[in-house]
Amino acid sequence: MAMLVVLIRCPHTGRFFSTGIETSPDEFEKLPALRRPVQCLFCGNEHSWTKREATLAPPERWSDVPEVEECFLKAMENAEQAAAAKKHEQRDFYHRMERKWLGLAEGYRFLSEVARRHEHAIRPQDPATRPPRPRWQPPRT
Ligand SMILES: [Zn+2]
Repeated sequence: MAMLVVLIRCPHTGRFFSTGIETSPDEFEKLPALRRPVQCLFCGNEHSWTKREATLAPPERWSDVPEVEECFLKAMENAEQAAAAKKHEQRDFYHRMERKWLGLAEGYRFLSEVARRHEHAIRPQDPATRPPRPRWQPPRT
């Protein structure tokens, strides 16, 4: 069965982020309706959430890169409109828009991957994690 990422929306920034839980829709239904705390990626606060506030998303249609996430949300909106469309020209239009947003999301995802790798390459290492430098030893006489 397809696994889905459990997302919640940050009340301060309005952005979706992963709770770190991956589940199938059936398992999700069986989760007890508890309030759970989760550390927010965007504002740094802890938010508590329940099943009712959560959104399930396929992992390939969700990203913590804001631009990519935005495109996925637009694609989702268009998919919903396509499903609700009465005329088939309308449905075709929304399906085309959905594919356009998904394509854009891929583009952004690629760019952010490149940027991330580049950042790793040029960012100086944290002194705490840097391997100790070999000490200079006076030559023995
Ligand atoms: Zn937050």
